[in-house]
Amino acid sequence: MDNKDLANLIFPNVKGYEYYEKKYPARDLPEGAIVTRFAPSPTGFVHIGSLFQALVAWKVAKQTKGVFFLRVEDTDQKREVENGVSGIVNSLNDFGIIPTEGMTDENNEIGEYGPYKQSLRKDIYQSYAKKLIEEGKAYPCFCTPEILDEIRSNQEKAKERTGYYGKWTRCRNMPMDMAAEKIKNGEAYIIRLKSPGNPDRKIKHKDIIKGNIDFPENDQDIVIIKSDGLPTYHFAHAVDDHLMGTTTVIRADEWVASVPLHLQLFYMLGFKAPKYAHISPIMKMDGESKRKLSKRKDPEAAVSYYKEEGIPKQSVIEYLINIANSNFEIWRKQNPDKSIDEFTLELNKMGVSGALFDMVKLLDVSKTVISKYTAEEVYTAALEWAKEYDSELAKMLSDKEYSLKVLGIERGNVKPRKDIAKWSDIKNIIYYMYDDKFDKNGEFEYQKITDKDEIEQIVNIYFEKYYNENDDKQTWFNKIKDLAEEMGYAREVKEYKANPEAYKGHVGDISTVLRVKLTGRHNTPDLYEIMQVIGKERLLKRI
Ligand code: GLU
Repeated sequence: MDNKDLANLIFPNVKGYEYYEKKYPARDLPEGAIVTRFAPSPTGFVHIGSLFQALVAWKVAKQTKGVFFLRVEDTDQKREVENGVSGIVNSLNDFGIIPTEGMTDENNEIGEYGPYKQSLRKDIYQSYAKKLIEEGKAYPCFCTPEILDEIRSNQEKAKERTGYYGKWTRCRNMPMDMAAEKIKNGEAYIIRLKSPGNPDRKIKHKDIIKGNIDFPENDQDIVIIKSDGLPTYHFAHAVDDHLMGTTTVIRADEWVASVPLHLQLFYMLGFKAPKYAHISPIMKMDGESKRKLSKRKDPEAAVSYYKEEGIPKQSVIEYLINIANSNFEIWRKQNPDKSIDEFTLELNKMGVSGALFDMVKLLDVSKTVISKYTAEEVYTAALEWAKEYDSELAKMLSDKEYSLKVLGIERGNVKPRKDIAKWSDIKNIIYYMYDDKFDKNGEFEYQKITDKDEIEQIVNIYFEKYYNENDDKQTWFNKIKDLAEEMGYAREVKEYKANPEAYKGHVGDISTVLRVKLTGRHNTPDLYEIMQVIGKERLLKRI
């Protein structure tokens, strides 16, 4: 019995690896094109950190006219969830991240380098495992969990590194006849790599994000094929990223420690290794200390949160690009109207330590994003959100013509309103524009002028003597100044400041009274526009 016989005994029916090498030829792409992927396990939950990785990968592929594909890593079938793939595809779609290749829903895919679901690639992995066995680079291992426990406890007693390596292995040097005998007898086994590594030697690695890292060589005889015939993550990574032509592996930095093993696998399989870019996790301040954004503790860790809150996808994308490359913020200031496609994201400018997730900042970015929307765009998006999440708002928006006027206040000008960060804010921002939501007898806070008679006088005189719905803005404002003067207030703030004793207050105090009386708020967008939209008849009912 030689290596070849053993390999045939273990994998009698698989296709030769040469078949796959031919089936998946090198990609014909322009120089510098990045081929990369998003490779989640379908566990039913998409973390904002995963979306961040997917976004970065998608963006650099797009920028370089490369390929971004979606590969589903479902070899750990215990962790799988029903409709997990569609959940991922839909989450990506929600943010406009559309893979060039890969899974498109639970069971469908596009592209020439598939299947893009690992559980459908069993034969492929096995044919490469067979090659390794034939070459004496992998072997069947029959160690039971009990034996592995025993090895571990011996290592602990001897104060040595734990794991399956070197002198501690039991099956590495098993005579081939004996191994064949056990297989024929139906004993359970897995396939392990016969690692040629020596941890006293160092390998140098240059990560695109993390920079130079030296690692000891890997000497662990890691499992490549499990007892269910499926590969481990490590083995599937090497085989898939080779056959799919990945040039750059962009993934979470929890994998950085596996780089020596992965480089060894590529080498032993005779593959060219890809470049690696390991992304640090997204962090959050918790009191004084930083920690990872947690699926359990932080609702904003789930991508579904953003949709539920009505934060536009564009805002989330802008914010994530912002934390990926800090120079984006300046670029955005200089190019407020350019599409994000025109910004070049650079992997090597990403932070080595985890970016801090700041919801206040995200909402701020979102306010700017929404400030550039037309009233029609705000209306459409808010209504779509409201139909799913807030029936009261949906009802308010049912009068489209009026709602467009409301949403159009201070919009489309040089300094547009910036008070909306998410669709779930809107109801509270515009309710006073709707008579059935505005309570004219509410407890309003009048700010500076609080005397009831004074307030009543201001409002009455204004509507009796000055108000004319056909006034343009300048006339309207001059009249408020006239009213101020009549009531003993300064026409201009600076006049008041120069001589405060001479006045009861200034024009701003007067307009605040009108604002609060008519809206219940002392902080609103432009009062002139608000009054125009509400109109005379309804304004008079409010006083
Ligand atoms: N399935 C792995 C994970 O979800 C993928 C890592 C990779 O991108 O290679 O962590």
